[in-house]
Order: sequence, then structure tokens, then C-alpha cells
Amino acid sequence: MSVEDVVEKLVEYGHELNQKKVKKQVDFVNAEITPEKSPANKLLLENPFAFLLGVIYDQGQQAERAWYYPYQLKEQIRKLEPKHVATINLQYMDEIFETTKPLLFYWRMASVRTLRAAYRVCNYYDGDTSQIWLKDSPSPAQIQQRFEEFDGIAQKKASMAVNILYRDLGWLSVAYEGLKEIDVSNDRHVRRVFLRSGILDTDDEAMLVGRSRELSPEYPGALDMPAWIIGREFCSNNAPNCIECPISKPCAKRTQYEVT
Ligand code: SF4
Repeated sequence: MSVEDVVEKLVEYGHELNQKKVKKQVDFVNAEITPEKSPANKLLLENPFAFLLGVIYDQGQQAERAWYYPYQLKEQIRKLEPKHVATINLQYMDEIFETTKPLLFYWRMASVRTLRAAYRVCNYYDGDTSQIWLKDSPSPAQIQQRFEEFDGIAQKKASMAVNILYRDLGWLSVAYEGLKEIDVSNDRHVRRVFLRSGILDTDDEAMLVGRSRELSPEYPGALDMPAWIIGREFCSNNAPNCIECPISKPCAKRTQYEVT
């Protein structure tokens, strides 16, 4: 079995996941399992600034927990809009984050980044977060660059945001030729699956991005979600479930690679 077979299986699994999602909304916070979190998910689906903050907070902890925090914040400040958030002073924002910190790691950093995000949206996008991906009809690569200009967002989160906007939310329409600009994210789960399956030999961001462009040139980002799900649900560091893994047949199973 070759690396091309692994890629084919990943793309196939990605299609399978998309089919399952067709009739469902994106579920950022696991609202399907915990229905009391539905308002938090609704906020993310309706409020672009909440989405931006979810991207910023998604770091070093379970994703569902990070994506829940924009709702927690809204509960405290009532209005989660950049122009309103920009009027809040840092001391008060710190107090909010400190009192609710069990829900969010890196809370002090998140507090500052929240204010910086609001200032940036106000200064560069006239207070309208959706202009990050709409203003002057940017290409996917330009949108990724715009996300990377926010404090707390680098390649991993920026390409994740572009993928979600296009693939899951439908807030971004991309012409066929633009899909080649949507990359995989430099995420630990994606990297682990790439390394173990034989797609990648070195744990390096540039190589990860370059390899996915090479192997899936029309839409490198197509490998992102299936690899992320497999990394999270089947391919843990200590107990990879190769028997049930969707790419088991072609995978090189180099389980000596661990990515934390
Ligand atoms: S769980 Fe096993 S088969 Fe699946 S990606 Fe990991 S090493 Fe490969």
C-alpha cells in the first residue's frame, strides 16, 4: 500500500463524514450529547465575533470546552459584539475571565486577546467580523493571512478557521480553483496521523503543509478533517485503535511516532 492509498482513504472518509453532517448543524460544543449547550452552539452559528473568539480560545484543551467560552462570556457582558467589547477595560475583562476560569485555560492571555480581537475588528473591519472573509473578496490564502494577524492565531487556527468557514458553515464560497489555497492545520492530531500513516517523515509545519499540497493539490484542506477526527478518535498516542480505524488498510502504522 502506498501513501497515495492513504490519501485516497482519508478523502473517502472525509466524504463519509460530510454525508453524515448534511442534515445536521455543525456542533462545536457537543450539544448533541449535552443539549443544555445548544444556546452556545447557536451563538457560534449566528455570531461571527463569537466564532472568531472560539478560534482564538481553541488551544491546549478539549476543543468543545474552548468553543463553549464565547457563550460564557456573552452571559457575563450581555452583548458579544466587537464595538461593545472594545469599550470594556482590561481590569473588568480580567475579572470576568478570572471568575469563570475553570472553563478556560490560559484565561489571562484569553482576556487580553479578546480585547485585542475587538479592537482589530473595529479598526480594520468597521466592527463587522464577517468582513475578515468578505471585505474586497479575498482569496482563501488572504483570509488565512487576515486571521493570522489576530493575537493568538497562527497557521493552525487560521487554516482551521478557513476550513470551517468553507466546509462547515457555508459562510465562505470558494471557486474550484481557490480550493488549492485551503491548507491542512498544523494540529497535533493531524500530524500524528500523517506521521504514523507514512504521509510525513518529519514533524514539521512547513513539511506538513507542503506534503498535503503535493498529495491533494486540488484541495489540500480535504485531508484536514478526516485526519483530525482519526487522530482524536482512533489514533491516540498510547492506544491506537488500528483495528477500527478507517484508514487501517493502507496505513503504515508507524506507532512509534508520538505527537502531544
Ligand atoms: S490508528 Fe493505526 S491505522 Fe489508524 S492512523 Fe493510527 S496508526 Fe494508522
